[in-house]
Amino acid sequence: MTGKVDARGAFELDESQRMLADTVYELSRRHVAPRAAAIDENDEYPEDIFQLLKSHGLLGLYVPEAYGGAGLGILETCVAIEQMARFCSNSPLFFSVHLLATRPVAIGGSEEQKKTYLTGVARGELRPAFSLTEPHAGSDAANISTRAVRDGDSWVINGQKCYCTGSSVADFITVAAKTEPDKGAKGISFFIVPRGAFRVGRHERKMGMRGIPTCEVFLENARVPLENMIGEQGLGFKTAMLGFNQARPAIGARGVGLAQGCLDYASAYAREREAFGKPIAQHQAVQFMLADMFMETEAARLLVYRAASMVDNGDYRKEHVHFICAAKCYATDTAMKAAVDGVQVLGGAGYMMDHPLERFMRDAKQLQIIEGTNQIQRMVIAQNLLSL
Ligand SMILES: Cc1cc2nc3c(=O)[nH]c(=O)nc-3n(C[C@H](O)[C@H](O)[C@H](O)COP(=O)(O)OP(=O)(O)OC[C@H]3O[C@@H](n4cnc5c(N)ncnc54)[C@H](O)[C@@H]3O)c2cc1C
Repeated sequence: MTGKVDARGAFELDESQRMLADTVYELSRRHVAPRAAAIDENDEYPEDIFQLLKSHGLLGLYVPEAYGGAGLGILETCVAIEQMARFCSNSPLFFSVHLLATRPVAIGGSEEQKKTYLTGVARGELRPAFSLTEPHAGSDAANISTRAVRDGDSWVINGQKCYCTGSSVADFITVAAKTEPDKGAKGISFFIVPRGAFRVGRHERKMGMRGIPTCEVFLENARVPLENMIGEQGLGFKTAMLGFNQARPAIGARGVGLAQGCLDYASAYAREREAFGKPIAQHQAVQFMLADMFMETEAARLLVYRAASMVDNGDYRKEHVHFICAAKCYATDTAMKAAVDGVQVLGGAGYMMDHPLERFMRDAKQLQIIEGTNQIQRMVIAQNLLSL
């Protein structure tokens, strides 16, 4: 589904998209906002939020109806993520981690895999995780060392993964491994590795984005049937890159929501807090910070909605990717700046855990790093521009 683009190129959501935004905003205000600080402070897995999304049929927003989902697009998924991220950065991971982890199956999977895994995720019966990163291969993802070797009617996978979000609660992980190590990126394939076949190691102690665990994953002679390879052998890296292109607007949407949350909170505080005999909202220095937050958040939102619409229209290949990278990069840089300025608007109170802005500041940093650091996004944008 696409949003409406008017003659001047301004972007507007249609009525059903606005209703979705209102519904998720209201659910988040009532149920997510009161939980956000405790999820962060206690590093607490938000099972209640998972159940909330499941009971409202929101987990499968982007999954086709044929596989038990709502059959909506990446745009609607971004709209939902944005509203939730205004209050909490952890809860929207049930959209964005699941979206990324299911991309290899959605793009390259067999009908059988789609029926099992997309349906399971849409119904909230299966929880997925995505594992590409290794201790020595993050940005340079084609340099992974994990190996998959065919043995009769199985693949046997060996390797060490790191920073795998959701792995300790995952029913299955989509794992990248090399089947033909001498072929570089073209030797990488993706596999569905079910719980029981992988071992979860250390739970990382994170600066922010707490609640959904990020862990080491060990594949020690992990044996999976031949049919657990996703798509054709050697096409895994290409599929993963296309998957990132589809999923990146969702990271941008987390940034837009976080920035909007900072603006909402800082504006309300500035109207109440007085200094020098008047509300700080009447001091121009504070007004300018809020005005910048507004401008940048609006710009980021438009970039994200446009990128999401491009994905929904099928425009997410290499030649379009600078638009998608621009949305992820700008929206997450905006989130970081809005969080830093939000803390500043609150002064000393902003530094304290009694207010959410220090949490937003810690959470925003992660968005500039994941699914391709913002340096890598800039590199890809420049490469496309210069070769166009
Ligand atoms: C909280 C969290 C959750 C994560 N969850 C997952 C997950 O679920 N699954 C998963 O597979 N991964 C996950 N990751 C990993 C994440 O995708 C990587 O951390 C990221 O891709 C960067 O890789 P790296 O950490 O190895 O950094 P490096 O690649 O070592 O980069 C270090 C620095 O060098 C810069 N750099 C590297 N190469 C270049 C270049 N060519 N040009 C310019 N600058 C460059 C980077 O921008 C960065 O600033 C997660 C990470 C975090 C922090």
